[in-house]
Amino acid sequence: MEQMVFIVRSCKKAGDIISGKLDISSMNLEAVTQLIIDLGQPKFRALQLFKWLQSGVQSFDEMTNIPVALRERLNESCYIATVKPLRKYISQIDGTVKYVYELYDGELIESVLMKYEHGYTVCISTQVGCRMGCKFCASGLYGLTRNLTASEMLAQITYAQRDNNIRISNVVMMGMGEPLDNFDNSIQFLKLVSDENGLNVGLRHISLSTSGVVSGIRKLAEYNLPITLSISLHAPNDDIRNQTMPVNKKWNIDALLQACREYQKVTTRRISFEYALIEGINDSDACAKELAQRLKGIMCHVNLIPANPVKENTFKKPDRKAIIAFQKKLESLGVNATIRRTLGADIDASCGQLKKKTKEEIDDADFC
Ligand code: SAH
Ligand code: SF4
Repeated sequence: MEQMVFIVRSCKKAGDIISGKLDISSMNLEAVTQLIIDLGQPKFRALQLFKWLQSGVQSFDEMTNIPVALRERLNESCYIATVKPLRKYISQIDGTVKYVYELYDGELIESVLMKYEHGYTVCISTQVGCRMGCKFCASGLYGLTRNLTASEMLAQITYAQRDNNIRISNVVMMGMGEPLDNFDNSIQFLKLVSDENGLNVGLRHISLSTSGVVSGIRKLAEYNLPITLSISLHAPNDDIRNQTMPVNKKWNIDALLQACREYQKVTTRRISFEYALIEGINDSDACAKELAQRLKGIMCHVNLIPANPVKENTFKKPDRKAIIAFQKKLESLGVNATIRRTLGADIDASCGQLKKKTKEEIDDADFC
């Protein structure tokens, strides 16, 4: 069988500073090697160190094949990113696990572990909060607090692996935050997570979801990665999309779909369109027709998601019959569409809701 080789454009990110220390687990092998050389150590230590860092160790003490003196030196100047679970909810229905993690600065993020027939998938957050302000989403309620580092994205995967004694085979960048608004760190994460000396998750097994940051889609095309690009479209026309997604005022549907066409020309990858069905807003027969019309000429798949109600808004999901009718309409017009299976329905909380709930509980406890 033909072996395909994908070259991730070199991203020589040396690592940022976290709490006055070097964010060493965001560094790629080249950067770790340079660090080891700068420390006057033999070069082979770099691969040992990189493997440990990518395995999700919590401290340098765990690196048993690295001399104690070097571990101590690294510990003085470097920081290993970790996530601390504050809450863990396990679905009694299908075993889906939802985590709320605390980061080094006390900020909270969410992550979800799902089991499918083909293996385990982790849904990771890419930012604390989000500045895109989509009206149906709990993550955007309070704007953006900060970007996650590549190491904090990785730590969500390694923690879930260790906690459940499993290997993650698929990753979706669909948790809190807009990955293309944190472009460099998202690219660095993709490079690290797919590294054969690290977690070695194939890029074909990774999806990146965007609300439609056209500049980011164009930049991403330059890297020509075999990941799946997911577009949160959620509307067939600008009138509806402007009401729910402020990003549409900067890049409207025409601009977005044009960027998708160009992206597809470069990558030849099928694009996924996410469409959250909201009762009375975007679920009519006419909407399905308009959507099919707009997607003509793009090799794609539409994921229909019953909108998850968020306390702060009045959006409702249509009933099951209406959702199926929407899917059938799309299919009859030649558009491949599936209704997304709801995992963890008993711990139901969409993007950003669990974090909010946890924060409220902590604030209440602080108050008492
Ligand atoms: N910021 C990126 C990725 C994270 S959001 C994006 O918007 O694509 C992951 C997905 O959840 C997106 O498709 C988003 O539109 C969807 N989503 C957010 N809140 C939702 C809700 N209340 N109901 C259904 N889908 C929701
Ligand atoms: Fe941000 Fe995505 Fe939520 Fe929109 S749907 S606010 S882009 S996380």
